[in-house]
Amino acid sequence: MRRIFCVGQNYADHAREMGSDPHRQPPFFFTKPADAVVASGLSLPYPARTADLHHEVELVVALGRGGSAVNAADAPSMIFGYAVGIDLTRRDMQAEAKKTGRPWDMSKGFDQSAPIGPLVRGLPPSKGAITLSIDGQVRQAGDLADMIWNVADIIAFLSTYVAVAAGDLIFTGTPAGVGPIHRGERVRGALVGIEPVDVTFL
Ligand code: MN
Repeated sequence: MRRIFCVGQNYADHAREMGSDPHRQPPFFFTKPADAVVASGLSLPYPARTADLHHEVELVVALGRGGSAVNAADAPSMIFGYAVGIDLTRRDMQAEAKKTGRPWDMSKGFDQSAPIGPLVRGLPPSKGAITLSIDGQVRQAGDLADMIWNVADIIAFLSTYVAVAAGDLIFTGTPAGVGPIHRGERVRGALVGIEPVDVTFL
């Protein structure tokens, strides 16, 4: 694995719940360090410096090949595989950063902030249920078909900012329903047809 890129507000219903206009902006990106990845099935300490850890379930795409300023039509051939992941967020810290115009690094890119389920080879589906549940209760329920920017568009856009490369992971945004995780809760992110990602917070 090389780098982790994340797309912000890529589902209209989530953009609205965060107070944004979902249709005006091209996709924007932020990053997490590569060592923020956590395998499914682990118990994690509740992160320090937050009282409002949030879940964002997302389709994660892994690149097998890179390029610069690639065409959306060529982007699918660069995909190695996909998985379902959780973009963990210190929401209180992020809200403060938004208010003060400060960077998101510490609210998004902290230790163990990117749990990811097992990677499946091949192209991700363009539609299908993506859900997040806490202790068996569904909190987020969306469909990949509702992404504002599809995976090929995301790769094309991203590759105009940086040269993407084999080993890069891309979190492609979350549907509505983001919310807090509390100590002791078991969080499951699921994408239809593949293995889920499970993490428990201590
Ligand atoms: Mn996200």
